Amino acid sequence: MNPLLDNTTLFSLMRTLQNARKIVIMGHRGPDGDALGAALGWAEYLQGLGKSAIVVMPNPFPDFLRWLPNSEKVVFYDHKRDVARHLIEGTDLICMLDFNSLHRLQEMGDVVANSKAERLMIDHHLSPDTTCAQTIISHPEMSSTSELVFRLIYQLGGYETMTTQGASALYCGMMTDTGGFTYNSNNREIYFIISELLSKGIDKDDIYRKVYNTYSESRLRLMGYVLSNMTVYPDCNSALITLTKAEQSKFNYIKGDSEGFVNIPLSIKNVCFSCFLREDTEKPMIKISLRSVGTFPCN
Ligand code: MN
Repeated sequence: MNPLLDNTTLFSLMRTLQNARKIVIMGHRGPDGDALGAALGWAEYLQGLGKSAIVVMPNPFPDFLRWLPNSEKVVFYDHKRDVARHLIEGTDLICMLDFNSLHRLQEMGDVVANSKAERLMIDHHLSPDTTCAQTIISHPEMSSTSELVFRLIYQLGGYETMTTQGASALYCGMMTDTGGFTYNSNNREIYFIISELLSKGIDKDDIYRKVYNTYSESRLRLMGYVLSNMTVYPDCNSALITLTKAEQSKFNYIKGDSEGFVNIPLSIKNVCFSCFLREDTEKPMIKISLRSVGTFPCN
């Protein structure tokens, strides 16, 4: 595997880490598998160096990530504002993972901006705001921040002491940001990394099941219902699915139950545009979700 950092960046990263005793690690608001996996994997590495490393997220992550080891120790700004603020203000170093600008933290971004702590950005999104951290490790060619963090740990010599738990967190991030390695995943080095993670004892099949096969019965029935009522417009290579308020209550709808539904019609041959209309349960409005594949832009 090719080393990721040149020597100058590597030494500046090492110096930044050496100078910090207390470290806070954070991901973007609405943390996904990559934000959380990268943060937990990075925290394990830093703890191994004898640092105090605490993960603080703006708000909670979805339930299907709750199995991740040490995720129960994550502090949520939305739930414990005082604790989170205290940690962010009192730390030596803030590691910003999987986001490219303080806006992605919303309200917590102000706390970060006012903290005197040094900042380190580790991210794979395009166009990083280079003013928001002293050290920027931005690699948009990476499939996930978790892949990026693995490569950093590898280059810093931390692979030896990586545990199954840390390896599982990084694998989870790599898997979720590539849809189970179905997109953005043609770089052969990804599979070298997976092989190295397997050497640490991860159970990749089990991680897949824990993340993707955790639907509630009512969500699956709702999905079946929505799809059976789908309208396909072959002449327009398009499909439409809808969900009214009444239908939602019939299926005991809870927030997030229709997450990802809009993508399903795109698995029909020749359908390249999908539209999902859902009546909101609180406000008098209809939420419109659009998705497309190929060269047809839905924006
Ligand atoms: Mn990501």
